[in-house]
Amino acid sequence: MMIRKIAILGATGSIGTQALEIVRLHPDRFSAICLTAHSSSEKLFDLVREFRPKVAALCKEPAILPEDVRFCEWFFGEDATQRALEASGADDALCAVVGIAGLPAVWTALGVCERVLLANKEALVAGGDLVLERARKLGREILPVDSEHSAIFQCLRAREGNPVRRLILTASGGALRDWPAEEMESATVEQVLRHPTWKMGGKITVDCATMLNKGLEVIEANRLFGMPGEKIDVVVHPESVIHSMVEFEDGAVLAQLGNPDMRGPIGYAMGFPERIPYGASPLQLPAYGALTFREPDFARFPLLKLAYAALEAGGTAPILYNGANEVAVARFLAGRLRFGAIARTVIAAMETIPTGPVRALEDIYAADQAARRFAEGWIGGNDGI
Ligand code: NAD
Ligand code: MG
Repeated sequence: MMIRKIAILGATGSIGTQALEIVRLHPDRFSAICLTAHSSSEKLFDLVREFRPKVAALCKEPAILPEDVRFCEWFFGEDATQRALEASGADDALCAVVGIAGLPAVWTALGVCERVLLANKEALVAGGDLVLERARKLGREILPVDSEHSAIFQCLRAREGNPVRRLILTASGGALRDWPAEEMESATVEQVLRHPTWKMGGKITVDCATMLNKGLEVIEANRLFGMPGEKIDVVVHPESVIHSMVEFEDGAVLAQLGNPDMRGPIGYAMGFPERIPYGASPLQLPAYGALTFREPDFARFPLLKLAYAALEAGGTAPILYNGANEVAVARFLAGRLRFGAIARTVIAAMETIPTGPVRALEDIYAADQAARRFAEGWIGGNDGI
């Protein structure tokens, strides 16, 4: 069997470590040839000791590089991820960096790897057509890792050329799904991080609680599957068993199901088109008893609604939506912003900053900077919000 050389960008994170569990289970199939992280050096050193990659990278240079990890080639600094990837000779890159900070890595991955396994949804939301065009021109495959998009991707393989009428994204509803609006306003970091079904990194868990995550996913689905916003619906499904659905012209709906476990979509992308066992516990539907569904509440989760507006506006609008949120979420996680103010910050940014076209990567980074500056200033000027 051919061993696939995989670069794991964001190896110390929630997605990265679960991908490495799959590598650990299948050393005959995968070799983690490149491991990168931002600043969690001790954790990365341990992974390097275990997986013995050819290259490794840390954006923040550690004070000392232990003797026993020096066998591989190291890269440090802001662009270390990209330089390591270029030197790695990886067949596939799992892009699991969080935020638009991962866009340069996705860009590089499209340049040097056959396939990009994409968890880093912010990069695709912000990168939009430029990223898709680059993939098309270079003949690269983008395989979704986000569970909803993996589900849709899997269902679409049964379309056999038939048109799709609608995509239906399921949403757990996040930690505050059943909270009254007035209590949501001052939800604490601890409460927000207690996600009902998924265990994930901090940023995405906050995004689930505001449902901005589902907004990013609506835009991500538009990018990946070429569907307009009006053909992408969201349904709240607290059990997170149906990972998403595709509706065809005859009304038939195909769904992909499983227990909520990110190793499913990660492993599917890693092994594609083969399905690789990862020790999933079998789906026992009677144990769930009932699968339930409801409409999303746009009044309590205005950021979900706003994603459709950003998609409709096009150009830099999705970049502003994402950039303002990244600032607000970081502030919230640092205990320096009320939960309710995350939505107000993003809404204010979208209402205030003019949008423009995206012609080049510079337009993306300029819009992101504008959103960040606005959000910093707006939060700063509205203390205690
Ligand atoms: P995480 O915070 O757990 O891990 C992020 C990883 O990226 C870490 O290894 C970190 O060192 C690295 N990193 C952070 N900032 C960086 C930077 N500026 N430059 C280079 N590396 C950096 O995040 P996560 O939950 O694993 O999420 C990663 C991505 O996958 C996000 O885009 C998220 O939306 C997406 N995603 C995650 C899940 C999940 O279950 N965790 C599910 C679907 C999609
Ligand atoms: Mg998802």
